[in-house]
Order: sequence, then structure tokens, then C-alpha cells
Amino acid sequence: MIKIAYERLEILFKMAEEEFSLHPLRSHRYVEMARNIAQKYNLKMPSYWRCRYCKGCKRFLKPGLNSKVRLNQQAVTVKCLECGEVSTMPYVKEQKSKRRKKIEPRTFQEGTHE
Ligand SMILES: [Zn+2]
Repeated sequence: MIKIAYERLEILFKMAEEEFSLHPLRSHRYVEMARNIAQKYNLKMPSYWRCRYCKGCKRFLKPGLNSKVRLNQQAVTVKCLECGEVSTMPYVKEQKSKRRKKIEPRTFQEGTHE
């Protein structure tokens, strides 16, 4: 049952994405429906969709059209141009894994020489 609900979330967000350029109101409605499903089955929104709707006015956000995406030192900020709500998402995890990747090849080489 939960699997089907996740599938429906995916479908609704994809439809919202496709319809946005022609019928923005429809895609706002799709987001509303997706949120209702998530609430009903107590689902966690997939992270890649979580930044695609506004937490303030619950509208679908398309970067470049009705939202602004910016990076600062620690976070991605998404600003909704409809109501002005700003949501931030830290990317410390990604920074850490990037740093680790830089270090790991070096330690691996040292290991082979011994
Ligand atoms: Zn908004």
C-alpha cells in the first residue's frame, strides 16, 4: 500500500512538472494532492521533491520561473517568488563526502607502497 502511495507521489509531481508551463494552477493542485497522500499514509517526501514546492503557500516551484535557487557557504536556499518564503537545505553531508574523496585516494596509494 505504501509502495503504491509513493508511486502516486512520483506520478503527481512529474505531472506537475510537465503541466507547469501551460497550466500552473493544475500543477499547484497536483502538489496539493501529493501532500494529501503523503499526510494520509504518513510518508516522507523524497528529498528531490521536497525542494520543489513552497512550504508557505504550498505551490509548485519551478526554478527560474517562480523560484530562486542560491547557494551560500553551507546551504541551498530556495526562495518562492509567489509569497517570499525562503527554505534552506544544508549540504554539509555532501561537502564532507567530497572532502573524504580528496583524502581517500592518497591514503590508498600510501597503503600499496608498504
Ligand atoms: Zn510560496
